[in-house]
Amino acid sequence: MSLIVQKFGGSSVADAASVKRVARRIVDTKAAGHDVVVVVSAMGDTTDELLDLAEQVSPNPPGRELDMLLTAGERISMAVLAMAIHDLGGQARSYTGSQAGLITDSAHGAARIIDVTPSRITEALSEGAIPIVAGFQGVAQDTKDITTLGRGGSDTTAVALAVALGADVCEIYTDVDGVFTADPRVVPKASQVRYITYEEMLELAAVGAKVLHLRCVEYARRFDLPIHVRSSFSDREGTLVISEAAIAARRTSEGTTMEQPIISGVAADLNDAKVTVVGVPDRPGEAAAIFGALASAGINIDMIVQNVSAANTGRTDVTFTCPQGSTAKATAALESVQSTVGFESLLVDAEIAKVSLVGAGMRSNPGVSATFFSALAAAGVNVEMISTSEIRISIVTRTSSAHDAVRAVHTAFGLDADGEAVVYGGTGR
Ligand code: ADP
Ligand code: ASP
Ligand code: MG
Repeated sequence: MSLIVQKFGGSSVADAASVKRVARRIVDTKAAGHDVVVVVSAMGDTTDELLDLAEQVSPNPPGRELDMLLTAGERISMAVLAMAIHDLGGQARSYTGSQAGLITDSAHGAARIIDVTPSRITEALSEGAIPIVAGFQGVAQDTKDITTLGRGGSDTTAVALAVALGADVCEIYTDVDGVFTADPRVVPKASQVRYITYEEMLELAAVGAKVLHLRCVEYARRFDLPIHVRSSFSDREGTLVISEAAIAARRTSEGTTMEQPIISGVAADLNDAKVTVVGVPDRPGEAAAIFGALASAGINIDMIVQNVSAANTGRTDVTFTCPQGSTAKATAALESVQSTVGFESLLVDAEIAKVSLVGAGMRSNPGVSATFFSALAAAGVNVEMISTSEIRISIVTRTSSAHDAVRAVHTAFGLDADGEAVVYGGTGR
């Protein structure tokens, strides 16, 4: 008998029929002799709908109230799922994040889990019940207010609970069969990956592959907890996110000596914006002042480019990318230091996308950049910025070119599968 944490995403519980289907799956796992803890997301696009509602009421709602509103989505799904399990003769009990012991800091909308004290969950398990926990939420240790972990955060709830409970595996059920070499909604010929290391999955999640929440992968890596990403709509084996050593062990026991693939995937992120600080005096300390102001405002900066300064003016432009949602804060922070920095103006461009190629094999394989840029050129994709890490190359281009770029790069690296990937549900929102 093992302890399994099963997390069901919004598209897996989009309506009453789906809730019943998921309930059946949970009851079957329990009947097979396992202890099961369930984490559930809000039904369908509920979270987006609640956000739309908030926006109609107030352009800038207090974080505390927005979190209170958003956590209502998961409360609905946990209660109806518990009802559906009861109908099948199972014993289920629903718990909010706070009741389940998910203790966070007080950063509304992006809270971090600082402790997990799941005594009510272990109690329910010892009484033979199936605990159903509302994903993506917790309670702040200091203020005792309800918090959310950020979009997609139910994955992180599931992994954190799995670690705290000593579960054998955390199963993430979604609307595709696992992790693919690209988003199957963008690249129908994307190939499913059987195993992927925590490191590669981290890079993919960081550059826009939203199939797993970034922090859930960080958490799983820290505690070496296996994640199994799979579809709630089929019984197919999904993708295991595990350590490199665990992959090597599996390959040996299967008798496959296949080397790790060079490329693990291609992803696009359409949620960033590009900010240009125009006419920065070319002298020491300017970049420190600009990025110091942005850091104090809590802005997450990704790519940075500084142009060569024009000889006749002695001024240069500094361009960086940050989340679209942070541009108002970023420009306010920069304007507050405009007189000391002495730059001329600011330009904000939200119509950009970041396209990235990820793969651990890039380290030891020359020619990856050449293939990447030739594929983009052949597809007529204009490159505006470039950044690289040991196992990733990213470019910034127009939003309108992003998907063409992903498809072109995917084909150029020979990642296209023979058949088409199945997308079972969801609206991709
Ligand atoms: P859930 O509601 O189950 O949490 P999400 O919408 O958060 O589901 O994540 C699943 C979606 O992630 C898929 O429907 C797919 O469109 C998208 N996705 C993006 N990149 C990838 C990838 N590399 N592999 C699989 N799915 C991906
Ligand atoms: N319901 C939340 C969201 O849509 C959390 C999640 O689905 O993981 O972002
Ligand atoms: Mg998700």
